[in-house]
Amino acid sequence: MIRELIFAGMSSVRVRFAPSPTGGLHLGGVRTALYNYLFAKHHGGTFIVRVEDTDQTRFVEGAEQYIFDCLEWCGIEPDESPLHGGEHEPYRQSERKEQGIYLQYAEELVRKGQAYYAFDTPEELEQMRQDHKSAENPSPQYDRQVRLKMKNSLTLSPGEVTRLLQAGTRHVIRVKMPENEEISFHDMIRGEIRNESNLVDDKVLLKADGMPTYHLAVVVDDHLMKITHAFRGEEWLPSAPVHVWLWKHLFGLDKMPQWAHLPLILGPSGKLSKRDGAKYGFPVFAMNWTDPRTQELTEGFKEKGFLPEAFINLLALLGWNAGTEQELFTKTELAEQFSIDRVHSGGAKFDYEKARWFNHEWIKRLDVENYRLKVREIFELNGIAVTDDAYFTKVLELVRERCTLLPDFFGQAGYFYSDPTGFDEASVLPKWDQAKRDYFTQLSQRFSALSSWDTAAIETVFKDLAQELNIKVGELQMIFRVMLVGAKTGPGVFVIAETIGMGKTLKRIANALAVFP
Ligand code: GLU
Repeated sequence: MIRELIFAGMSSVRVRFAPSPTGGLHLGGVRTALYNYLFAKHHGGTFIVRVEDTDQTRFVEGAEQYIFDCLEWCGIEPDESPLHGGEHEPYRQSERKEQGIYLQYAEELVRKGQAYYAFDTPEELEQMRQDHKSAENPSPQYDRQVRLKMKNSLTLSPGEVTRLLQAGTRHVIRVKMPENEEISFHDMIRGEIRNESNLVDDKVLLKADGMPTYHLAVVVDDHLMKITHAFRGEEWLPSAPVHVWLWKHLFGLDKMPQWAHLPLILGPSGKLSKRDGAKYGFPVFAMNWTDPRTQELTEGFKEKGFLPEAFINLLALLGWNAGTEQELFTKTELAEQFSIDRVHSGGAKFDYEKARWFNHEWIKRLDVENYRLKVREIFELNGIAVTDDAYFTKVLELVRERCTLLPDFFGQAGYFYSDPTGFDEASVLPKWDQAKRDYFTQLSQRFSALSSWDTAAIETVFKDLAQELNIKVGELQMIFRVMLVGAKTGPGVFVIAETIGMGKTLKRIANALAVFP
């Protein structure tokens, strides 16, 4: 908290969202981006997006652009990124590798005795795993227990190492984790985190193709990009001791960013997974994502009909709260109120019904202009051409209380555009008789004679005639609604009649009279 305030004064906060372009961006990823962004905005700092694409085997075509599209849809605008530029370019790690940024740091660690060259072939590594496999240790790692039995610069003579390097023998650089040391750091959410160095393996820092691994690149880039705070998912906690260790030996712990590991997002069956979407019928990605390798489509919140305002609002509250009863926040309000020490460490349960509630609230709150174009697209996809914008806006305003997701507008408002194709006869017929038929026949005549077609005039004519013929107005209203809408739903029936106009109102009454006995 105190450190946070110091930074607030200095406005030097620099945070990063560091996605790997390996596929769709799921809820947890967007939330990580959002928390970084809100923290930066809260402190008047800088929000950076750095693309961590050093693992070429996991690289997926199109994933980077998709990530930026998602961020744009959510309104999470980077200050610096491969697409936005910035003073620390390039922001793609593969391009930074081409500039030779990482190699020198790996070699520096070797010189200092904190890392070593390892020449083991894939077969030798496999052999090691077989040899050391036991009931207690089913998947042995390359660590302090085995490193001295392997082919590396700790076991080979300096002359042999030089010879192998000069001969261009395939090798990696591994970190040499210390023995019997406690590696601790302060996590802004979890407090003091202590790790035993003996439990951490000698991770590869530089791969045989010269690419840094995530572990080296993340530390080097956080340093070079002057990152002050690093917020990332809880799944990175086990890697933290390696990063802390690298910080200690490369740049000094006093320069290390403050860490916060964000809580997992839980689905109905533990950690929210991509498969939960299909299983439980809700989206897990921000936007539709089609895997180019399998053509498998994973649904997105955007296409499901969520508003970005609702989406970031619900994501912000998955792990954070303002400490008040307030649940609906604009992005500006979130940025004003967000603080990392109100993020909890326990898993945050994703509740789809609650997510829908947020969207419903946002549909009601926002100016219709914010989503008119999107709903218009939905109408047009359903074969309804929207030609009159003023009429369309009025319709959206009339039904929005009833809409939870954007496609609901079509179901709720279709009758403003086309005549009902059927009537809820089960509701009408028990109340239908000759008197009602006479009523609607006469009503049509009186409507045609009206000089001004507005809600008040329509209602007066309707009620006066009911009184004259001594028929319960409530029953008539229900029938009138079914005639106009097809069902017992919708806003006030006289407003519907006014909106669709006299011509359509008369036509629908006539259509119904032709169907009802
Ligand atoms: N590239 C890592 C990821 O894909 C980022 C982890 C971090 O923020 O340190 O999640």
